Amino acid sequence: MASEASISKELISQLVEGTIDDDNATRLQRLPRKDQDRFMNYCAVLQARVSWQDQILLRLGDKLYVVRNAANQRVVKCDCGHEFGDYRQNWKLGCKVRVRRTLAEMREVYDPAPACPEPGWQEVREFFCPDCAAQHSVEVVAPGYPVVFEMLPDLDKFYRDYLGQPLPDEAGDWYADRTADLTQRWAASAAG
Ligand SMILES: [Zn+2]
Repeated sequence: MASEASISKELISQLVEGTIDDDNATRLQRLPRKDQDRFMNYCAVLQARVSWQDQILLRLGDKLYVVRNAANQRVVKCDCGHEFGDYRQNWKLGCKVRVRRTLAEMREVYDPAPACPEPGWQEVREFFCPDCAAQHSVEVVAPGYPVVFEMLPDLDKFYRDYLGQPLPDEAGDWYADRTADLTQRWAASAAG
């Protein structure tokens, strides 16, 4: 097995792909601390897997990232290149959404039947990329419940305080939920 100092991008790549062998997986799990540059190596591995150049700042899901784009904005971006916009706004509002409300609709994805959410009390919302149709998230909530904003990361704090590598565009207003800006625009245009 490789030594702790040599946790290479190749090994991280195997971890991401799910092809890492048991010995190395166990060794990584038993490290008293993660290797210092693990996150940056992880991002480098992810960066090599996508077809675009925008810098990956954080991975949100299997095929979803926060990136800094060519216009120097921090946006949510799909594997396929589709941009959902400012990462401070809930990216789900830019998705194609399928809602399962009836027992028959839920049974298509739940098995056995007793595991199904209860129609009328709950609904299943599936969120898809409008360009490549990748399913980025599923939420099971009460009908009418606001679309869940799963994570608003404080990127500046993470990069500065935890990684010791502050982002070059650090600013006080990056960490704020701006989703209401979008819904207010929708409301204004619907009223107008
Ligand atoms: Zn996509």
